[in-house]
Amino acid sequence: MMDYDQVFMQHALSLAQKAQAAGEVPVGAVIVLDNEIIAEGYNQPISHHDPSAHAEMQAIRQAAKKLGNYRLLNTTLYVTLEPCMMCLGAMVHARVKRLVYAASEPKAGVIHSAAQLANSTFLNHRLEISSGVMAEESSALLKAFFLQRR
Ligand SMILES: [Zn+2]
Repeated sequence: MMDYDQVFMQHALSLAQKAQAAGEVPVGAVIVLDNEIIAEGYNQPISHHDPSAHAEMQAIRQAAKKLGNYRLLNTTLYVTLEPCMMCLGAMVHARVKRLVYAASEPKAGVIHSAAQLANSTFLNHRLEISSGVMAEESSALLKAFFLQRR
């Protein structure tokens, strides 16, 4: 049987490489509905002069436009790095059903690392969460990027 999580995360990783090629921190994201990719994004805050242009936000905006709906019901969001507070907030507003991320983000990740906010009582939506899918590949990409920038 095909492992869909790996297939979709592989695509998110290819988007992360696009970010890297543009000099942005290599993070990529895709949104899947009924086993089909409906939106994708990669980190672009520097080139877009937009602090909110994280990979997840780009993908959420594209998916909402495509569906003609601000709710992304029954979707799964794949991202190569543990989400930050902003992106978790947007996923909750969008009612994304499931989040799958690859590498942990010790400094800014709010799912399991710097904080555990996904189950906060002030959030009115619970995401199903999986982590660690292709984490090594994503970490290697991020490490290489930051080494090269030093
Ligand atoms: Zn973010």
